[in-house]
This record gives sequence, structure tokens and C-alpha cells, in this order.
Amino acid sequence: LFITLEGGDGSGKTTQAELLREWLGGLGREVVRTREPGGTEVGVEVREIVLHHRGDISPRAEALLYAADRAHHVATLVRPALERGAVVLQDRYIDSSVAYQGAGRVLDSREVRALSEWATEDLAPDLTVLLDLDPEAARGRLDASRTRYDRLEAEASEFHRRVREAYLRIAAAEPERVVVVDAAQPAEQIAAELRARIEPLL
Ligand code: C5P
Ligand code: MG
Repeated sequence: LFITLEGGDGSGKTTQAELLREWLGGLGREVVRTREPGGTEVGVEVREIVLHHRGDISPRAEALLYAADRAHHVATLVRPALERGAVVLQDRYIDSSVAYQGAGRVLDSREVRALSEWATEDLAPDLTVLLDLDPEAARGRLDASRTRYDRLEAEASEFHRRVREAYLRIAAAEPERVVVVDAAQPAEQIAAELRARIEPLL
């Protein structure tokens, strides 16, 4: 079972992934918690470039770096875990690229998606949780928790507005795969909603 968590920076993906991990572990399932970028050793190096390189990275180069991280992650960690029957709980996947590299950097979203489909040999999530939050509210959460911002978090509010709209377009286009959750709710309430949604898939 392959579950991905998506949403803007500060929407609470990590908190929800952790709550889901505890719940699924308690049910006796093997759970693999991972993330993009940075789910492998190669990925950690790519993550350092895409998040902290000093200076510009051209949008297509950036898209390829995220795709490279994803290709290696899927081939070496995610697919093997799914093949042995684990539940993979992953922070960010292809939808992040469509939202950030596509809508955010203004690349063609179909091309960005096609690049990731090639990179992953078409591995699609069984379920995607979209934690939807107004970028201004998310910014407030980040300001409370960060001492420094990564390159993306530092982008203007207009960038984050495009990212949110792109996510909502994906959810509208694929309602059977993507469940949209109001991320302004208390974390435990969101977790309960997600448990109810995931239980029938186990
Ligand atoms: O989710 P996480 O905070 O680990 O992501 C790190 C940063 O990378 C975030 O600021 C996110 O916006 C950015 N990112 C991106 N494109 C992706 C994945 C992540 O711009 N495909
Ligand atoms: Mg982040």
C-alpha cells in the first residue's frame, strides 16, 4: 500500500505521517516512512543542492534534480518495500513536482508529470492525502518554527498561491486517488479522518 502526503510547506504533512505510522505500526503492519527529496543517501545530496544551493538553479535543471532523486528513491527503496508488502508512507511525490516545478516555476505540468512517470516507471500512489491550507496561515506556522528558510520556503506568496491552486486542480482531476483534508483543523481530528479513509484499504 503506497500512501503519499502532499501539501504546501507548513501544512502538517510530517505530523500526520508520524501519527499514521504509529497507528499502522500498532496494527502490526510494516511501515516505511520516507520522503522526497532526500529519502536515500543519493537523495540527501540532491536535497542539499535543491534546498540550499547559493544562487539560482534553472527551472528545468531543478525539475531534473527532483526527478533524479525520485528515480533513485523509487528504484532502491519504495518499490522493494511495496514488493515485500510494507505500507509506504511518503512525504511528497510526483504531485509535488507538478505543483512546485510545474505551477511554481511555470513549467508545463504535463511535461513535468511525464518526466516523473518516466523516472518512476509509472509507480502511482494508491492514496494521496492533500493537506490543504491557505499559504498565509502556513507561513505563520513556518515563522513560528524556523530559524532559516530553504530556497522554496523563501519564495514569494504568489509562488505558494500557484502551488496551492495546482494541488487543488490535481485533486479535482483525480478524486478517487486524492483525498483533500482541511489542514487548519486540529492534528488529532485530521488523523482520525485519515484513519477512517485508510482502514478499508488495509
Ligand atoms: O517537504 P519538505 O519540507 O521536506 O520539502 C523541502 C522543500 O522542497 C520544501 O520547501 C518544498 O517546497 C520543496 N520541494 C519542491 N519541489 C518538490 C519537492 C519539494 O520545491 N518536488
Ligand atoms: Mg518543509
